[in-house]
Amino acid sequence: MDKRKTGLFFGSFNPVHVGHMILANFMATSTDLREVWMVVSPQNPFKERASLARDHDRLHLVELAIGDTPNLKASNVEFSMSKPSYTIDTLAVLRDKHPQREFALIMGTDNLASLRKWKNADIILRDYNIHVYNRPGYPAGELADHERVTIYDAPLMHLSATYVRKAIKAGKSVRYLVPEAAAREIEITGLYQ
Ligand code: ATP
Repeated sequence: MDKRKTGLFFGSFNPVHVGHMILANFMATSTDLREVWMVVSPQNPFKERASLARDHDRLHLVELAIGDTPNLKASNVEFSMSKPSYTIDTLAVLRDKHPQREFALIMGTDNLASLRKWKNADIILRDYNIHVYNRPGYPAGELADHERVTIYDAPLMHLSATYVRKAIKAGKSVRYLVPEAAAREIEITGLYQ
């Protein structure tokens, strides 16, 4: 039986915004991936950032953002792993836990350009497909022609979580920048204020 192709989209999602969702949904609908999991990176106790919301709050916002979107899921797999978690280790844990799935990575050309420096990059490139989206200003580099790499022109939104956090701090509405249910939760809880 064919394994279920599942793309992993890693991020701190602090908070999740529509730029992330457009991308995740593009990968779930326009590639051979059957599902995309948004993997929320935990806080690193050695690298505390005052502006980084608690793990479960960020996860909850991703779940709200996803709502009933088909084939998108939030994952907290890294919360219980030793920190910092390296992609290769997370892939090993997921592979063990879900033998019926074939995992692939999702990343922008910005990350692809530095992939060779990742822990066990050679193993990642040997064993996993990588779905890459073009990010303006970031040439894909030498890995563009790698047999594991596929590059897409995905629709992009010029937006960052930093921008969203600043807007909230300044008392502005983040309507349309953050999926509605997540924006409402941020407002109710006072997160990022
Ligand atoms: P911050 O501003 O806090 O650095 P961010 O908006 O870049 O956050 P991350 O959680 O770091 O968000 O992003 C998760 C992944 O999504 C990263 O691989 C990042 O490159 C990518 N990403 C971030 N913003 C966008 C966007 N607007 N469109 C497509 N991909 C994005």
